[in-house]
Amino acid sequence: MNCIMNKNLIFMNIINRKTNTKILYQDNFITAFHDINKKAPVHILIVTNKLITSLNNVNDSDTILLGKLLIVATKMAKKYHIDKNGYRLIINCNSHGGQEINHLHVHLLGGKPLGNIISES
Ligand code: 5GP
Repeated sequence: MNCIMNKNLIFMNIINRKTNTKILYQDNFITAFHDINKKAPVHILIVTNKLITSLNNVNDSDTILLGKLLIVATKMAKKYHIDKNGYRLIINCNSHGGQEINHLHVHLLGGKPLGNIISES
């Protein structure tokens, strides 16, 4: 139980600067940092400061927040110079979606050709 709780608090601890994770971007709503287990040369997590456990748990009042999440992702893509060649954004939702941390986040992946997982599958 403790283990599960701690796992889901990891991002909260990063947002609140209780870890030594380098913060790449932060405002009142959104925080971004490198994924610890990167799957591409650029792999950044863009996270809501507010704890929303999954995409299933957003509602109409989160409309602006979700917009900010995407806007920050595009800013990070520009900052890390992957905007021109292109990149992928991923939001995993629940177990079939491969979500491991129950705190809403977008993966920003780029820096190499990523293929097209839709047309390849
Ligand atoms: P999910 O599978 O939930 O969509 O993605 C969770 C991501 O969080 C994984 O890619 C994983 O590598 C990353 N992650 C897990 N723990 C930590 C951590 O302590 N620090 C950082 N920076 N990333 C983490």
